[in-house]
Amino acid sequence: MPVSDSPDRRALLTRARLKRVRPQPGRPVWLFDLDNTLHHASYAIFPRINTAMTDFIVRELALERDEADLLRTAYTRRYGTVLVGLMRKHGVDAAAFLNEVHRFDSLAGLVRTERGLAQTLRRLPGRKILFTNAPETYAFAVLDLLGLRHAFERVIAVEQMRDRRGWQSKPDHGMLRRTLRQLRVRHRDAVLVEDTRTHLKHYRRTGLRTVWMVGHLHAAPAPSVGRQTDISGGYVQRRGESGRPHYIDRRIRSIKSL
Ligand SMILES: [Mg+2]
Repeated sequence: MPVSDSPDRRALLTRARLKRVRPQPGRPVWLFDLDNTLHHASYAIFPRINTAMTDFIVRELALERDEADLLRTAYTRRYGTVLVGLMRKHGVDAAAFLNEVHRFDSLAGLVRTERGLAQTLRRLPGRKILFTNAPETYAFAVLDLLGLRHAFERVIAVEQMRDRRGWQSKPDHGMLRRTLRQLRVRHRDAVLVEDTRTHLKHYRRTGLRTVWMVGHLHAAPAPSVGRQTDISGGYVQRRGESGRPHYIDRRIRSIKSL
């Protein structure tokens, strides 16, 4: 990585830039999730990440494959990310885990999204922040492939969610409070755009507004599949399901609808 683009330098520049940001009450501040919100992660990336996570758990925790799969799903549901569960319960090496499960020979062939996304985001009024439980290197790689690196004022990846309690991830409340404070954003001005309903549900209680993006959730035939979780803990949407839970302010199928 060139010096000019190192994480330390980016953090310094971000802090300097944020000092100049004045709160603008009433102006929306969009918090965009990445996977299955800005691109179709379930198409090819999530299956690979899920397999790599299970491989890691089988090896590091000496579990059978089905037990490792269950643990992966349980930690996603309970902690928001497998990483946080593995850190808290087993003290795994976070960097080793993140590097191993987000290693792709060719990410370019795996990323799919809707047409005109960069233009859509450029036209959308308000500040735009990427707010993802994914690691920073992966997030920037996907943003580059989507042509969105400059669409966001700031990228908050899982590394930036750490605090004095340790590793955190969505939907932790303390982490959100700290993040919004750093960004100088009031909860009521923030709009979270996400595919994962548990994140939307937890964060709606804090006063921000919620947009449920369902355009990349693959429809599964009901009722045989029922509620399944992918890596992000997002429930697979059932075919024909069009309801909107009470904690969702808007439900969209395309970012163009914002
Ligand atoms: Mg997501």
